[in-house]
Amino acid sequence: MTVTLDLSHRRAAAADSPATVAPETAPARTSLVGLTLDEMREAVLALGVEPKKAKMRAQQIWRWVYFFGARDFGVMTDIGKDLRALLEVHHTLDRPEVIERLVSADGTRKWLIRSAPGVEFETVFIPDVARSGALCVSSQVGCTLTCTFCHTGTQKLVRNLTAAEIVAQVMIARDDLDEWPSTTDGRALTNIVFMGMGEPLYNLDEVAKAIDLISDGEGISIGRRRITVSTSGVVPKIEELGNRTGAMLAISLHATNDALRDVLVPLNKKYPLAELMAAIKAYPGLNNAKRVTFEYVMLKGVNDSPSEARALVKLLAGVPAKVNLIPFNPWPGTAYECSDWKTIHAFADIVNRAGYSAPIRTPRGRDILAACGQLRSESVKTRASVALKERLAAADTPT
Ligand code: SAH
Ligand code: SF4
Repeated sequence: MTVTLDLSHRRAAAADSPATVAPETAPARTSLVGLTLDEMREAVLALGVEPKKAKMRAQQIWRWVYFFGARDFGVMTDIGKDLRALLEVHHTLDRPEVIERLVSADGTRKWLIRSAPGVEFETVFIPDVARSGALCVSSQVGCTLTCTFCHTGTQKLVRNLTAAEIVAQVMIARDDLDEWPSTTDGRALTNIVFMGMGEPLYNLDEVAKAIDLISDGEGISIGRRRITVSTSGVVPKIEELGNRTGAMLAISLHATNDALRDVLVPLNKKYPLAELMAAIKAYPGLNNAKRVTFEYVMLKGVNDSPSEARALVKLLAGVPAKVNLIPFNPWPGTAYECSDWKTIHAFADIVNRAGYSAPIRTPRGRDILAACGQLRSESVKTRASVALKERLAAADTPT
């Protein structure tokens, strides 16, 4: 193997005492976690690996990262020592920082993750859902949409997450669950749902890239049929989602007529129910084995009457569908209440009798605000003008 070694930074650090090394001379090490194979190839090329060998080296590193969950270049025994040393100088295998980890009385785990200053988002692991454990991942910090019953909807969009930040959520959960290497036997984490913070279809490029990585059978290996993307109804992106990702589709429906849906999911004013249903029916690959999930949050006195259950059945006619009834999860400041259990069961019975599976989702992790719609981080988008003022003030401050 021919590699050009540039260990100058390392030598400088070793030769000088720490006090004499100016911090700005230290190389900025970047993490390889979350990179695609092509991006890893670019990274090894940049380290001077011969172009002929770059792909193979990238494949080796990729497998260490996504199949073995490696956290240290030292374990990469099929890669020469020189290249490992060089990797160590310029890169890390760090995950973004977990700033808070909470475990609910019911076993649900929630991580608050910070990937950059002011970029904080939540990921939730829900164990034992029908013998499978689902990881609920975020696609954005905050959300541009303002569904009135959703806590995330009260947090302005800070920014889209990158594919690397989405994949890192899975890596962090796997680390915590101790599920490396990536074997399929007896895993606790079997499914991924894009039901955390944000609207995935407003960040489709990064979501699709993340799904390619997560579903790759040589790495993390969670198949596309086990990945569900939930949308509040971004109609023009629904078909594209199917074509690009092959993921399962979930629709946050919550109402069966436009007047009510306009209030609960304001995006409905842009893409009303008739257009939404047409887009759903055209979802690529839809059949009885690949059904759409309709999420329906149960709001007391708002959308939970028997006549609304019948309207729901009518709306779903001809769609391979299942319904998920979600008891409303309260959050500080909300005006909504959760429907009574009797009302939810009566609603479920009507939908069930029409031939649709309509499980009532047991609220999980409510004690740690990890249940559906309770996620929110303190990150705020600083207006550019304010950020500029802050930078100028900092520059003026005598040290
Ligand atoms: N933005 C996407 C995905 C994230 S929301 C979407 O809206 O589909 C995940 C699910 O939780 C959605 O079905 C959403 O409507 C639901 N949800 C939001 N707030 C809720 C709450 N307070 N209680 C129960 N479900 C809620
Ligand atoms: Fe955004 Fe989904 Fe919450 Fe609506 S329900 S505000 S789309 S995260």
